[in-house]
Amino acid sequence: MRERLYQLESSLLNEISSLYGTEKVVETEAYLMRQKIAYFSMEIGVDARLPTCCGGLGVLAGDTIKGSAEMNFPLVGVSLRHHKGYFEQEIVNYQQKEVLKRSNPFGVLRKRDEKVKVQIEGRNVTIGAEEYIIKNGSGNKVQIYFLDTRLNENEAEDREISETCYWMGKSTTYDEHQRHRFKQEVVLGIGGVRFLEKLGHNIRKYHMNEGHTALAILEIANKNNWDEDKTKKKFSFTTHTLVPAGHEIFPMGMVESILKDSFPLDKVKEYGGQANCLNMTKLAMSLSDYQNGVSKKNAEAAREMFPNKNIDYITNAVHLGTWTSGSFKGLFDRHFPGWEENPEKLIDAMKLPNEEVWKAHLENKIILLDFIEDEYGIDLDRNRLTLGWFRRIAEYKRPTLIFTERERLKLLGSGKIQILMAGKAHPRDGYGKEAIKKIHEESQIINGAIPTVFIENYGMEISPTLIAGVDVLLNTPRPPNEASGTSGMKALSNGVINVSSWDGWIDEEFKTKEGAIGWAFGFQHETDVQNAHGLYNVLEQKVMPTFYNNREKWIEMQKHSISLASYYNTNRMLREYIERAWK
Ligand SMILES: *Cc1c(COP(=O)(O)O)cnc(C)c1O
Repeated sequence: MRERLYQLESSLLNEISSLYGTEKVVETEAYLMRQKIAYFSMEIGVDARLPTCCGGLGVLAGDTIKGSAEMNFPLVGVSLRHHKGYFEQEIVNYQQKEVLKRSNPFGVLRKRDEKVKVQIEGRNVTIGAEEYIIKNGSGNKVQIYFLDTRLNENEAEDREISETCYWMGKSTTYDEHQRHRFKQEVVLGIGGVRFLEKLGHNIRKYHMNEGHTALAILEIANKNNWDEDKTKKKFSFTTHTLVPAGHEIFPMGMVESILKDSFPLDKVKEYGGQANCLNMTKLAMSLSDYQNGVSKKNAEAAREMFPNKNIDYITNAVHLGTWTSGSFKGLFDRHFPGWEENPEKLIDAMKLPNEEVWKAHLENKIILLDFIEDEYGIDLDRNRLTLGWFRRIAEYKRPTLIFTERERLKLLGSGKIQILMAGKAHPRDGYGKEAIKKIHEESQIINGAIPTVFIENYGMEISPTLIAGVDVLLNTPRPPNEASGTSGMKALSNGVINVSSWDGWIDEEFKTKEGAIGWAFGFQHETDVQNAHGLYNVLEQKVMPTFYNNREKWIEMQKHSISLASYYNTNRMLREYIERAWK
């Protein structure tokens, strides 16, 4: 073992030796030998300099892996390189323009020399990887491998696999998109297992973050001659999907034409078959020994679809070190030393002095408003109640809900509120593009009364500044569509007040705390228009009077929010995964 390890990791160990001396080599060697959890995710949003695919799923994966590094928990991440990432959004004449750029995250990733092969459409496709290393304060580290087919030995169409998110690629028809996607999943799932093996990682269990990663099962099951129990023991699975249509399926004919005879099709059908398709969620559910949803409601929906499974739930969280602004980090350092290692300390946030909380918040608000003045030449008022809506522009998130009745909005908010918005629409989502246009048109009309600014290119570079800099983070999903909504958790440790429809994590948490941390509106049984009036009522009767006439109460609510960050952090979430999913 030791010999093999030296061979496989020799370049890494040499480097460590030259940087830190030989005692670190011994330590690293012991570390490498520890049995690990392999965390598979199609997107891992770990670093703003690294393009990945898009939203919440990837950010959660990145935060989870950072959390494991901090807890010194042995884990290794596996994802797919997206050389051109998602797209950069520019707004031209109220329209979204999508710009694809090849990323060059120089110095962020390191190329590995090892390579493995997988069969795709009967061709041998070579897979390499670029490595990202997370080090925590005490020198522990966790590797993430971004698998890559953009290698000279591959044909052009196979190099394309790790170029960009599948819907941004060269393919045009739905069928071609599906093929491209399935090939990505072959590289990630099957290639990922092979790559970890090649490197000598000792994997105790494979964690599948969403069904996109489920082909890893085929590789392990094959090694176990499709012994069900042996295979199940090797897998745990997280589903994020609330609606049946959200589960990924591929026509079995397509699966067969890509995998050919590299795996027994009858077994693929037995465990993942649904009508004439392969259902990735079903495959993952069938051959894993632990399954969870990411909120109580999400797990309930999953149990309805898979009634014979005992689906657990582990509520999502955020990595506080990543999402807490400098001003609040400073505040917590002064009052709760060691809070980053022990975020439970934030439970005492009610003891924070009011002036210091307000000062830290104002600092973030000024940073954001200055940015907007620099970028857009719009001078917003730092004393005015500032609402933020920053999300993926998707229909169920209802980006234009606040404009449902413009006259009522003007009547209640004229001269008293200002609105900031940001979000990318899926390139093929006609609704989303119209919504962006509508936001710009509305803002043009109400600007005099309620200044409204749309900030371009929402992504991980800008989201921390946006979320921390507003007074209120607004979330308007149509219940019950939001699995979690982690942005609201990012608001907590920055003293930003959540105002949301009754959905996602808010639905659970606000049952007892509505009015104390933030405000909720909009029930599931109501129409969109009724939900909009719910939002107006909350703004008019709760948010604005508290902000303008009862600053003490407002700050109490900010502190209450901060105390909740003692729960919605990755340490707590990781502990649950370790105790239940990876025990
Ligand atoms: C946190 C975050 C998300 C997740 O957003 P939700 O709407 O809360 O699910 C998506 N994109 C970026 C860039 C984020 O930082």
